[in-house]
Amino acid sequence: MVVNRKGIERIKEIYQDRASRAQELKAGGKQVMGYLCIYPVLEMLTALDIVPFRILGQMSEPITKADACLPTIVCPFIRSTLDLGLKGKYDFMDGVVMAHVCDVGEKTSHIWRTYLNPPYYYFLDVPHTTHLAAQEQMKEQIKTLRQTLEDFTGKKITAAKLKQAIDLHNQQRALVRELYDLRKPDPPLISGAETLQTMVALMSIPVAEGNDLLKQVISEVKQRKNKLSKKPRLLIWGSIIDNVALVEMIESAGANVVMDDICVGSRAFFPAVAQTDDPLDGLAYRYLVELKCPRTFREATYGETKKDYIQDLESRFGYIKEYIRDWNVNGVILQAVRYCDIHGYEVPAVRDYLDHIGTPHIYLEHDYSEAALAPLRTRVQAFLELLG
Ligand code: SF4
Repeated sequence: MVVNRKGIERIKEIYQDRASRAQELKAGGKQVMGYLCIYPVLEMLTALDIVPFRILGQMSEPITKADACLPTIVCPFIRSTLDLGLKGKYDFMDGVVMAHVCDVGEKTSHIWRTYLNPPYYYFLDVPHTTHLAAQEQMKEQIKTLRQTLEDFTGKKITAAKLKQAIDLHNQQRALVRELYDLRKPDPPLISGAETLQTMVALMSIPVAEGNDLLKQVISEVKQRKNKLSKKPRLLIWGSIIDNVALVEMIESAGANVVMDDICVGSRAFFPAVAQTDDPLDGLAYRYLVELKCPRTFREATYGETKKDYIQDLESRFGYIKEYIRDWNVNGVILQAVRYCDIHGYEVPAVRDYLDHIGTPHIYLEHDYSEAALAPLRTRVQAFLELLG
């Protein structure tokens, strides 16, 4: 392989054709494993030298095949992933690790197995609570994942290999934080669209290669001469965004997207895995308790004082207040893909919390198509006018 491009240019190249590097590695004898959402335990794949490849959708591609399997009143992102699978766009993968992210994700995982019959298939039945019993259940699921991967590859995941994989992924998480720190100055050193492209690229190549690329991107961005201009600073919260069209629309309307709380962004990369005596304990805790998607129900932690709604909100969304403070955010865009129940149901509580802490916000719903973004632009412009 001859890679001429470096840093952001290479990121854009991978973003434009995200399967090409994985296909190249596959042609060279590597195994490539697809995974759905952020719950499959990637360290298990990396420990076996398998390339983890996140299954994403394609906003610009009309859904023509998936409607035979899924009704049109479910999440269009998930319908898009299945559509791409049915069209053979993921045929290069050696298998998939699916997960019970939400009910639509769960159904689609089983449909994927039935219709696409991948050589390897594992369904991680992630619990929906974070109690100790749920953590134990998660650990057992990870044990079975490890066993089935070992059976499939004929290789062992030794303690040393797993520790090495955890270190490698943690390095990537630390580098992503470093990149996000470059969005803290005003103006930020890197746009929201470029950050998203970087996150998508990282989810398409081996983790060690991603770490090298991230180091190049960080050093390039630090030396940038053409700075962005000062504009209202926004955080985007909500359902998956795996295509830059939405972020580009917001930034071209006159804002800098400086922070996110989405699963192709901080949610996927911020929590690290603690090195525990039994590595599965650290992995189970990170993937079940520390990932912040509302698909998992969290008991509020109230301390000594009487329970009340604001304390509940504080314990669930306090991390958003920290993002707002640390990235100096002026306003929040809450967005959800149409029919995404788990985010849709969370919106009223997040709005109440943002009202409580005095941060302006707007809620946008979209149907995961580029064509539907134009009317939302007017609403974003009106919101930016309010921010002044
Ligand atoms: S966007 Fe919502 S409905 Fe779609 S897969 Fe993610 S959590 Fe599930």
